[in-house]
Amino acid sequence: MKRIDLHVHTTASDGTCSPAEVVRLAKEKGLSAIAITDHDTIAGYAEAAAEGERLGLEVVPGMEISTRYLGPVHILGYYLDTKSPVLNEVTDWLVQDRDKRNRKMAKLMQDDGLPVDYDAMRERFGAVIGRPHFAEVLVELGLAENVQDAFARFVERGQRYYAARNFLPIERSIRLIREAGGVPVMAHPFQYKLQDAQLRELLDLCVKNGLMGMECRYSGYTEEQVQYLLALAKEYSLLPTGGSDFHGSVKPHIALGDGTGGLFVPYRFLNGVKAAAGIEMERE
Ligand code: AMP
Ligand code: FE
Ligand code: FE
Ligand code: ZN
Repeated sequence: MKRIDLHVHTTASDGTCSPAEVVRLAKEKGLSAIAITDHDTIAGYAEAAAEGERLGLEVVPGMEISTRYLGPVHILGYYLDTKSPVLNEVTDWLVQDRDKRNRKMAKLMQDDGLPVDYDAMRERFGAVIGRPHFAEVLVELGLAENVQDAFARFVERGQRYYAARNFLPIERSIRLIREAGGVPVMAHPFQYKLQDAQLRELLDLCVKNGLMGMECRYSGYTEEQVQYLLALAKEYSLLPTGGSDFHGSVKPHIALGDGTGGLFVPYRFLNGVKAAAGIEMERE
């Protein structure tokens, strides 16, 4: 059965593999398709698509937007029109807002005497810098054992170097993806630690605003959890999707395609998304 991964980060945001590297890795692993879903940007897609063309691997354009509902909620968007003016206006705003937040975080570190130069980070990591990059820098400076440790002690909410950024309202995120011709999907529903009733309330709100899918197969989710999500997706007439949330070496426990082990996302999930986006389907 053809196998895919619809949740992948690259160096265009906070992943550590370039878009071309991710495509090569997917090819080596025998995946049939991957979606590039960087935070707040579609900038990695062009390079990945070119490499996919060269190697014969299907690459799907995507993006992940952070929103809030009680706590963080992430919305994935697939097959967005990369030239959509409204999409580009919003992603520019998101990246600028991130940049302001990042400068605050860098300043907090500098005030503690740490040699953190944000402009140098921009040179090194590109336009979309996230807390994982700061975590990496803190590890290099010897302040933390690894990225997880740096998060827990320095950059998680409530920790010394955390600064908040702004978020698009959840309704706006979903509508934006639809306006840009894309398919909005709720990412990793169990990461939000919501009770069943709360998750249902969230789904009601999202569906009302145009949500079309839900990520049912995800790194670390047990088969029981997956079955619960698949049933919920069916109930809400949402397309099931799945992916690893691969980030490369900043999240070394997550492998492309396999997640934390045993992840299997069937190609038919992508056919569902394609049908919703009005794109021609391939044989499974
Ligand atoms: P940002 O969007 O820059 O605030 O950073 C959020 C990103 O950091 C998330 O999308 C994850 O990729 C990553 N992240 C959040 N919490 C942790 C954690 N505890 N350990 C490792 N990575 C994390
Ligand atoms: Fe991330
Ligand atoms: Fe996410
Ligand atoms: Zn992600």
